[in-house]
Amino acid sequence: MNPYDLIDRKKKGKTLKENEIEELINHYMIGHVTDYQMAAFSMAVCFRGLSEAETASLTMAMANSGRIIKPDDYSSITADKHSTGGVGDTTTLVLAPLVAAAGLPVAKMSGKGLGHTGGTVDKLEAIPGFRTDLSREEFIDAVTESGIAISGQTEDLVPADKKLYALRDATATVDSIPLIASSIMSKKLAAGSRVIVLDIKLGEGALLSELNEAKKLANSMIKIGRKYDRQICAVISEMSQPLGKAVGNALEVKEAINTLRGCGSQDLEELSLHLGAQMLQLANIVSNLSEGKRIILSKIEDGSALQKLKQLISNQGGNPEIVTENNLLPKAKCIKSIRTKKSGFISKINARNIGVASSLLGAGRIEKNASVDPAAGVVLNNKVGNIVEDNDELAKIHYNPENVHKKIESIEELIRNAYKIQKAPPKKPQEIKEIIK
Ligand code: URA
Ligand code: CA
Repeated sequence: MNPYDLIDRKKKGKTLKENEIEELINHYMIGHVTDYQMAAFSMAVCFRGLSEAETASLTMAMANSGRIIKPDDYSSITADKHSTGGVGDTTTLVLAPLVAAAGLPVAKMSGKGLGHTGGTVDKLEAIPGFRTDLSREEFIDAVTESGIAISGQTEDLVPADKKLYALRDATATVDSIPLIASSIMSKKLAAGSRVIVLDIKLGEGALLSELNEAKKLANSMIKIGRKYDRQICAVISEMSQPLGKAVGNALEVKEAINTLRGCGSQDLEELSLHLGAQMLQLANIVSNLSEGKRIILSKIEDGSALQKLKQLISNQGGNPEIVTENNLLPKAKCIKSIRTKKSGFISKINARNIGVASSLLGAGRIEKNASVDPAAGVVLNNKVGNIVEDNDELAKIHYNPENVHKKIESIEELIRNAYKIQKAPPKKPQEIKEIIK
């Protein structure tokens, strides 16, 4: 295999064969294809795209880079969920315990932050001691015994995505439909869940901001799922303003705990109930979404979902006491208010600006494999539709000065510029935009 030739053919828009894609990934894993060649290939894919067959080949080549778990390796049906990436997208931390508490085991693979978007692995790693590098056996055992496990990519589970994901993050090759589809679906197929619900984020804070692009991505992933006999659906959901109010790793863990206590943001709770109900319906546990939402809501009310979160944390080596004692989570040295210079209705909070700001405060990576500051981030006071008076606090930034990547004043300005304030009340954003089955 000659990597130069494959890169060159993709650059010219030619179609690659299944075995060529397989070899490219296999040789990348053993170091015969270098990072710079893989970066060039990824950039060619960004410009030229991949056919349906090429996307499926890339997905399976990545899934097969580790040891796959098959649906029958679990003692019962299990469910997985994946978001295409957003700002303040705390959903998994709320949804996984909710669905597991409702009796449907959750076997979920997640990733780190990508570009300006956050990643569940970074959020979970903000919990002291929490391990996201489960082996295949540890993962299966946790799902079997406790009905819940969340792991990142490891040497065992989709190592090719671990490597390629970090490379894409540092080479501006994140926002490509076939690269996103194969990255997500390789993890979903390798983790072995029969039920898969995809949350396709749409808006300025998402990787894709056009509805037809979001639909293309949804359909591409659904086709791959069907091919491998999965019960799969996609929900296109709002990501023009951040989800919930917290953006940043430990800050979002705290937000998830509050949401599981029934005192979280309405948008985050609504999305979690909806996605959870879809999972229960695909698993044939309920026959309609309203029944699913009712069951899931009852797991917030009776405290069992919060208990499930504690169990997840303790199973994976974290300190479960953080659930009752927030002070055990990492805390930033500096907290500063951002105030408005206008009064009126908030009509926009640009999620991308907030995501970039949070990343610059230290919550994201500037370089491949860098560490993140678990305490850093932004907490919004308001959401679109709220009224503010001149000099009201819009948000608080949390940071440790030694981990900030830019002048703090310019980050404050970025956040202030994310807000649009107007005299007339704006239209309320619609959380769920479309459901694709
Ligand atoms: N989430 C993933 O796991 N991979 C991507 O490429 C984008 C979002
Ligand atoms: Ca959030």
